[in-house]
Amino acid sequence: MDSGPVTITVAYDNRTLQQDLTPDWGFACVVDAAGHRLLFDTGAKGELLLANLKNLGIAPATVEAVVVSHNHWDHTGGLESVLPLCTARCYVPASAAGELGTRAEKAGGTSVPVTGRASIWPGVWLTGELGEGIKEQSLVLETGAGLVLITGCAHPGVVNIARRVKEDFGQPPWLVLGGFHLGGASAEEVKRIIEALKALGVARVGPGHCTGDEAIGQFQQQWPGGFEQIGCGRVLKMEAK
Ligand SMILES: [Zn+2]
Ligand SMILES: [Zn+2]
Repeated sequence: MDSGPVTITVAYDNRTLQQDLTPDWGFACVVDAAGHRLLFDTGAKGELLLANLKNLGIAPATVEAVVVSHNHWDHTGGLESVLPLCTARCYVPASAAGELGTRAEKAGGTSVPVTGRASIWPGVWLTGELGEGIKEQSLVLETGAGLVLITGCAHPGVVNIARRVKEDFGQPPWLVLGGFHLGGASAEEVKRIIEALKALGVARVGPGHCTGDEAIGQFQQQWPGGFEQIGCGRVLKMEAK
């Protein structure tokens, strides 16, 4: 069965690339893969998420699964708005399943707590909960170009998450995108992270959300060949694997 290309559409981000989409602190993206559609994170404000999805031409009813990266308001705020419209399965980090699972079920979804690496559909994976402090799960997509890793805030550290993916999948992520959480990082720290990602074998980066303007500028400057601009309205298309 031809399931078409893998498509990532950024619906909620601190920046926007389209005038009819509203930027706001938070993150959400729609992923079309393996003939299915999922929503990764839900932004901070439900109404804003729904408005952006509408202007992107994405009907919430077409969402078959919702993935929550971690239990922070800027990633979970849209749950109560989107789940009643799609009654989707909602993959939540097991350590926060008490609170998030209850919210998901109340909103009409089905809570699926995730501990370790898990597959949602063929070629669509969750890393499982990572990190010592704020537990967070990331999404891994198998594409014709390579593995695509999508992070919410990357609280466990974007390099740690990418390294874990390389260990678990036997190859480094080809593209890493999402929040890298480097707002407070020094220029030297960001440089070290860029070098570490390159050394792991990562080819492209799309720093968004909480990465911070300065860090994003640094990625763009120091990794010009691999930089992807992230913001509301950004669509990335990869061949299916
Ligand atoms: Zn966070
Ligand atoms: Zn965040």
